[in-house]
Order: sequence, then structure tokens, then C-alpha cells
Amino acid sequence: SNQLMAGKRGLIMGLANDKSIAWGIAKACADAGAEMAFTYMGEPFRKRVAPLAEQLGVTQLIDCDVSDAASIDAAFAQLEQAWGKIDFLVHAIGFSDKNELRGRYIETSRDNFLMTMDISCYSFTAVAQRAEKLMTEGGSMLTLTYYGAEQVMPHYNVMGVAKAALEASVKYLAEDLGKDGIRVNAISAGPIKTLAASGIGDFRYILKWNELNSPLRRNVTIDDVGKSALYLLSDLGSGVTGENLHVDAGYHVVGMKAVDAPDI
Ligand code: NAD
Repeated sequence: SNQLMAGKRGLIMGLANDKSIAWGIAKACADAGAEMAFTYMGEPFRKRVAPLAEQLGVTQLIDCDVSDAASIDAAFAQLEQAWGKIDFLVHAIGFSDKNELRGRYIETSRDNFLMTMDISCYSFTAVAQRAEKLMTEGGSMLTLTYYGAEQVMPHYNVMGVAKAALEASVKYLAEDLGKDGIRVNAISAGPIKTLAASGIGDFRYILKWNELNSPLRRNVTIDDVGKSALYLLSDLGSGVTGENLHVDAGYHVVGMKAVDAPDI
């Protein structure tokens, strides 16, 4: 344990269960002395998130559906009432119809395109609007993205398009908020078996491919992501904004399958 986040308060959005990337980040922040609030999406998730909150001594559990502006407003009103001010925000939220996370991107429907963009991209900007007002002494915002934004990955389809827009929005938000001492960054995580990932076609194959072909010859864990998140959320990242930090065992630098890497 360390004291990198001592005296800091933040909101973690996107916790579904103990496999969630948000959980890896929350554990790293708790270990560093942060005080946190968690949001969850709807009553079914409260049951799964409540014991996790208890485990880290988190008492503020807030219902928030990011597709609903009133729900976001209510969540931030609750936070403002409790704390007045926050220092960090983690957005680990994404969603698309799993029927469109397989097959051809070209088949994407308008309805799912708009929903995917709304929940997986716009919601970060929507929460940044509210969080800005509470980051009265500067702060750090973080979202989660994937390499499928930069290069074509099998089955990622409309999520790749939404993540590309999310990555662009990180840069625009960094410029807007930099003057107030608020940093905005993304972590591009390698594939991890979570609830959201289970909707992606052939996900087991993608995991195996990354394990065999990344420079570190392994997959990353939510604890790997948590440690890098701690760097960006804490004062260790004080000079870093608008960045997309790849926490992917180096996979993004590989141009060709290595000669020594076995076939799957
Ligand atoms: P997860 O299923 O544990 O988390 C996704 C979260 O999004 C859930 O908590 C879910 O409740 C929440 N969510 C969905 N719709 C919502 C809504 N309308 N309002 C509020 N919350 C909503 O999966 P995860 O893999 O931990 O995903 C977290 C983030 O990491 C996502 O942005 C995902 O795209 C990104 N990511 C995941 C991987 C991976 O391989 N797992 C890799 C790179 C990036």
C-alpha cells in the first residue's frame, strides 16, 4: 500500500462485478488511500456492487444510467451534497447490442449505432460536464478504450467506431479543462474477460491471440490496468493529459506475428 491518493476523493463509474476493469482501478485507488463513491446501473447491479463497496469501505453507492441525463444529474447532485468537491473520475462504461459485435460492421443498424455512441462515447463527455463543476481544485478524469479504435479488430465493429470518437473526445476535453488544472486521459486496455467482453464474438480466440503475440507474451489483468490508472489519477501523472496509455502487454506495437509465436 502507498499514500498516492491520500486525501483524494473520486467517483468510479462502471462497476458490475469483481471482474470489472473498474474494480481493478478501485482496488488500486483504495490501496493508495483514496476515498471513493461508486455508481451502478439499476437495482440488479446494486446487489453485486454493494459487497464490493463494503470490501473497500465505500459508503456512497449511487444509481446512475448514463443514457439518461436526469439520472446523471441526480448522481452528481448526490455527490455534491456529500462532498462538495471531487478530485478524480473514472468512466469504465461501454455498451452495444451483442448481435452487432459479430459479423460485418457494414450491417450496423442506425438504432444500435446511436445507442453505442451515446453510452460508450457521449456519456464520458456528459459526466465530464458535471464533474468539471465539482473539480474546483483541479482533478483527473479517466476513460477506458480499446485498440479496435485504431485498427480493425475482428467483431469489434461499431464499438471500434465509438471508441475512436471517445479517444478524440479525450483530446478535446483535455484542451477544454486543462486551464482549470483538470487532466483527461484514456487507458487502452488489452482484452480482459469481463461481462462486457463476453458480448464480443470469438472473444476467447482474441484473448489467446493477444497472449501469444504481445511482446510480454501474456494478457493483462484488471490489476495491471489499476496500477496504470493510479499513475494517471494521482500526482504521478501531473504532466500528462490528452494521452491514450496502452496497457496491453505491448500488443499495439506489433506489426506482424513473431516467428517464435505458435499458431492457435
Ligand atoms: P464490465 O461489464 O465489467 O463493465 C461495463 C460497465 O458498463 C458495467 O458496469 C455496466 O453496468 C456499465 N454500463 C453499461 N451501460 C450503462 C449505462 N447505460 N449506464 C451506466 N452504466 C452502464 O466490462 P469492462 O470490460 O470492465 O468494461 C469497462 C470499460 O473498459 C468499457 O468501456 C470497455 O469498453 C472498456 N474496455 C474493456 C476491455 C476488455 O477486454 N474487457 C478492453 C478495453 C477496454
